[in-house]
Amino acid sequence: MNTKKADIPVPAGMLTLSMSPLGYRKPWFVKADDFRVTDDRKYMISIKAGRCWICGHTNRKGFSFVTGPASVAANVAIEPPCHPECAEYAVQVCPFILNPEAKRRSKGLTAAEIDDNHSEAGANPGVFFVTTVKKYKIQPTASGLVLTYDEGDIIARRKWVEGQVVHDSASESDTLKS
Ligand SMILES: [Zn+2]
Repeated sequence: MNTKKADIPVPAGMLTLSMSPLGYRKPWFVKADDFRVTDDRKYMISIKAGRCWICGHTNRKGFSFVTGPASVAANVAIEPPCHPECAEYAVQVCPFILNPEAKRRSKGLTAAEIDDNHSEAGANPGVFFVTTVKKYKIQPTASGLVLTYDEGDIIARRKWVEGQVVHDSASESDTLKS
């Protein structure tokens, strides 16, 4: 972890996570020790009980989704909800999000596991949004579950590019922020 990233305060919920050999906190969703593979059991716990996808602790304050622009346009998310502070920490330190040139390593993964990693983040558009909502719905689709929310349930939405928040009127909706 470089100095700049080390200066970013770690959210309280994440302090209980173990460290990987590379100095990253191991997110709760990781199955075994492979950051590329998410745990199906935890996925269901997170979306049904609102447990933070990153730190694994109970979340009642607001549900934040980290997505790319396509999901924002449709008000959907594929990855489960996080605490707002955990989501914003992730967009600042996660190597897949930080480096637009980074490609998800797919060597050694089955097609199903790659699909589980959800292609929008895998394609790495270099632009990420943290959308925080009051509530969301679980919607079954032909390719699995999708999380959806109504425009009126959005508390805040911030655009992040390479670990920096970008303020522009088109991407920000803080009007309901408490
Ligand atoms: Zn959390």
